[in-house]
Amino acid sequence: MPDQAVELGSEQCPLRVAIVGSGPSGFYAADYLLRSGMNVHVHMFERLPTPFGLVRFGVAPDHAKIRNVIKVYAKTAQHPNYRFWGNITIGSDITMDELRAEFDAVILAFGAQTDRKLNIPGVDLPRSYTATEFCAWYNSHPDYRDREFDLSHPVAMVMGQGNVAMDVARVLAKTSEQLSTTDMASHAVDALADSQVREVHVVGRRGPAQAAFTPKEIKELGEIEGCDVIVNPDDLRINENCAIELELPGNEANKRNMEILREFADRKPTGAPRKIIIHFFKSPIKLRGNGGVEQVVLERNKLVGEPGARKARGTGETETLDCQVFFRSIGYHGVPIEGTPFDEGKGVVPNESGRVEPGLYAVGWIKRGPSGLIGTNKKDSEESVDKLFDDLKRLEPKARDDSGLRAILKQRGVRPVSYEDWLKIDAAEVERGQAKGKPRDNFTRIDEMIAVLDGQPSETR
Ligand code: NAP
Repeated sequence: MPDQAVELGSEQCPLRVAIVGSGPSGFYAADYLLRSGMNVHVHMFERLPTPFGLVRFGVAPDHAKIRNVIKVYAKTAQHPNYRFWGNITIGSDITMDELRAEFDAVILAFGAQTDRKLNIPGVDLPRSYTATEFCAWYNSHPDYRDREFDLSHPVAMVMGQGNVAMDVARVLAKTSEQLSTTDMASHAVDALADSQVREVHVVGRRGPAQAAFTPKEIKELGEIEGCDVIVNPDDLRINENCAIELELPGNEANKRNMEILREFADRKPTGAPRKIIIHFFKSPIKLRGNGGVEQVVLERNKLVGEPGARKARGTGETETLDCQVFFRSIGYHGVPIEGTPFDEGKGVVPNESGRVEPGLYAVGWIKRGPSGLIGTNKKDSEESVDKLFDDLKRLEPKARDDSGLRAILKQRGVRPVSYEDWLKIDAAEVERGQAKGKPRDNFTRIDEMIAVLDGQPSETR
């Protein structure tokens, strides 16, 4: 127990907290700590040289307004007690034990870095992709820079009906001209210019009343210029199978979804060059093809279970759709960092309201799983930080400055990227974009980002 004279968070003894990950949950935790009125120093670690996690690499390029939340995080980053340590991988550049020896408390905010698996025959055929890798690729993520997506065929399917599926369907259905003025990676705009995809099937295993998309996102599918949206009115009929009448009361978002889908079902196809076809009550059970996806076998589902917890169950009735490009968009899944406890099944770090153990906390998707909108993370992060505050008297003060940390980084030849460094990278990306009529043109390789900083001191602020 620290003695009273050195109580963590006091004038004499700042509470030094490391946050692993710089996405929304990490920034909301940082903000709450820095606004607590205590003497807190926040050190945020990030594997890439760039901050903001999925706000940079997940939010769709044609959703510029959503990305504006970066301004809020940038304000947090201006706090004198905030430090950004980019380009440092916790678990390899610095082990978890080393990090915990340097900081009084550690908050895990590293999100869910891979996709939930769809185990069906044929899922590993060429032209079967994950939505998570496609999104990361078109959003300039350095890990996905060299991925190739074969879009030289007319029919694509997106399996899943969450908001990620909406993003992927929209990007596939838009022309490259419609995307070229966004901040989409230039390599993706170029590849999409050659896309032959003209028909996008968006398939959900349950019904319209259970769909995971939110009203704004489904509505947008009907607003794409040069694209018809098609919904089978039979899927929207009130019957025992779809449980619409039982599930909608009290669920305003799904009620609104139904209104939008009914409006889509009433539309007459205009013969537009591109089409989005929305299917419900279907699951893919097999992908077929010779050297690449050529057909998807779908099984018709019925719903079983109580309203509010309906599950899809196959009926045995199948249909085969000619489709050459398949995207599975059935959710993200967490990946552990060595040295932290992990629940493989759920893809989360086991925790109680954010407390993993005194001194170690989790926030965001690695705490609760990959759900919710950006803003959901604010309360979630605050709950975890409150646990940290509850534990304050039990925490043992660790290193009092950064010298140990810097020595480890120096010895291992790791070049940290500070927040000031990031601002230089940011300015260079905006400048590159101006030449192309885009709000910014992101670097897609870490070397290019570091090259911007050549001649600049690599010390963190
Ligand atoms: P999600 O919202 O959880 O949706 C996953 C979809 O996959 C659901 O339709 C789900 O169906 C389906 N699914 C799951 N397992 C399946 C299986 N084995 N077979 C067939 N279908 C399966 O996940 P997400 O789309 O990846 O989004 C993650 C989070 O980020 C969400 O909270 C989302 O709202 C948020 N997000 C928001 C935006 C935005 O605000 N614009 C953009 C992107 C993402 P069931 O419903 O039947 O389980």
